[in-house]
Amino acid sequence: MGSTLAIWDVIVIGAGGVGSATAMHLAKTGARTLGIDQYSPAHARGSSHGQTRIIRQAYFEHPCYVPLLQRAYGLWGELEQQTNQKLFHRTGLVELGPMDGVVIPGVLRSAITHDLPIERLSPAEIRERWPGVRGHDDWGAVVEKNAGFLRVEQCVEAHLEMAADHGCELVHHCGVHQWSSNSHEVSVVTDHGIEKAAQLVIAGGPWTRTLIPSLSPWLQILRKHLYWFQPAGHGFREKDGFPCFFHETDSGFFYGFPCFNGTGVKIARHSGGQPIEAPDQDSAKENTVDDQDRQLVIDYANEYLPGLGSRLVTSAPCYYTSTPDEHFVIDRLPDHQNVTIVAGLSGHGFKFASVLGELASQMALGREPAFDISPFAITRFQRESK
Ligand SMILES: Cc1cc2nc3c(=O)[nH]c(=O)nc-3n(C[C@H](O)[C@H](O)[C@H](O)COP(=O)(O)OP(=O)(O)OC[C@H]3O[C@@H](n4cnc5c(N)ncnc54)[C@H](O)[C@@H]3O)c2cc1C
Repeated sequence: MGSTLAIWDVIVIGAGGVGSATAMHLAKTGARTLGIDQYSPAHARGSSHGQTRIIRQAYFEHPCYVPLLQRAYGLWGELEQQTNQKLFHRTGLVELGPMDGVVIPGVLRSAITHDLPIERLSPAEIRERWPGVRGHDDWGAVVEKNAGFLRVEQCVEAHLEMAADHGCELVHHCGVHQWSSNSHEVSVVTDHGIEKAAQLVIAGGPWTRTLIPSLSPWLQILRKHLYWFQPAGHGFREKDGFPCFFHETDSGFFYGFPCFNGTGVKIARHSGGQPIEAPDQDSAKENTVDDQDRQLVIDYANEYLPGLGSRLVTSAPCYYTSTPDEHFVIDRLPDHQNVTIVAGLSGHGFKFASVLGELASQMALGREPAFDISPFAITRFQRESK
C-alpha cells in the first residue's frame, strides 16, 4: 500500500458481508486484489454484525432470487469445509401470516416455481410442534426445514481468512476518501495514499451514499435494532429443536432466532426503522434505544411467542440500506464501466453474500455473470426518475 503504480487488478472497497466474499472470489482466480476497510472486520458499525442472519430459499420477496440462493447455499457449504467450522445452523424456519398477505403467498409462489421442499401446516399444528410459536387461527403457516441462520461475524472472518490465504492484500483501518475512473484504470485515494487498479468493486453497505453520491436518491439508510430476550420458560433453545421464526402481523414483519449460545432469543422488526444520512453522522448510534420500536417488539413477543416473557437483556443498532422497491442493486456504474457495485440490499442481503461476492468478482474480471442480474440493474430507478 502507498504506491501509485497500477499493480492491482481489482480494488474492493469494503470488507463487510459482500466485500469479504468478493475479495475471496477474486483472489481465488489469481487476480491481484486489494481489499480496503475503514474499520477492522467483522466490526459492529455497519450492517454485518449481531451474531446471526436468517437464511432461507422459499423467498417471499420474489422467485427470481431462488437460483442465487441455491448457489449461495453451495458456497456457504464450501466455505465451512475450507475453514473447518460451522457457519450455517439448519434450525428450520416457521413463517406465519395472513393467507392474502405478503409472506405466505410469496413463500408458496417461490416454492412452487422452483419445486422447493416446504411443509404447509395450520397455526394450531405449529403450536402443537413448538408451543412457543403462535399465529392467528385464520392465518397460513409454512415450515422450511432447509432454512436456518448464519453466524454473521464468523462468515465475514472466514471469507477474509480465505481471501488472505489466496494472496489478497487486506488493509484495515484505512478510509477511502475519493475514487475516480477513466477508460483504462481506477484511482482510489485512501488514508495511506493513492492506489490504482484496472477495476474497482464498491461494497460499502450503508456508506454507499457517501462513496457514490449519484446513487443517494435511491438508497435510504435506516437505523434498526436487534433485541435479545432471556426466555422465562423452556423450549426456546436450538438444542430443544426451536426454529427461526418470521411473522407478518398487523404491526409489521417480525422475526427471530432460537437461543444457541446462552445470549437469549434474538428478535427484530423487519419493518420500520429511522432514516439517517450516513452511519458516521448518526450521533445517536452508540446503543441508542428506540422506545416505540422496543415496545412493538415486546408486544409482538407477548402475543406471538407464548412463554418467552419480556426479560430484555440487551439490544444493538444496525443499518439497512434500502432501495425504493427493496430489491438489490448489482450492476456496473453506468458512467464508469470499470466500477462494479453491490448495494441497496434492503435488509435481506446477508444470506446472499457468498454468491454476491462471486458475481461481483465475475463482473470485475469482465466475465459473464453466472446468473441473470438484469432485475437488479440501477437503471430501473434512473429510468423512472426521468
Ligand atoms: C438488523 C439487521 C438484520 C438483518 N437481518 C438479515 C437476515 O436475517 N438475513 C439476511 O440475509 N440479511 C439480513 N440483514 C441484511 C444484511 O445483514 C445486509 O444486507 C448485509 O450484511 C450488508 O452487507 P454489506 O457488505 O453491504 O455491508 P457491510 O457489511 O456494512 O460492509 C460495508 C463495509 O464497507 C466499509 N466501508 C464503507 N465505506 C468505506 C470507506 N469510505 N472506506 C473504507 N471502507 C469503507 C465499512 O467499514 C464496512 O465494513 C440484516 C441487516 C440488519 C441491519
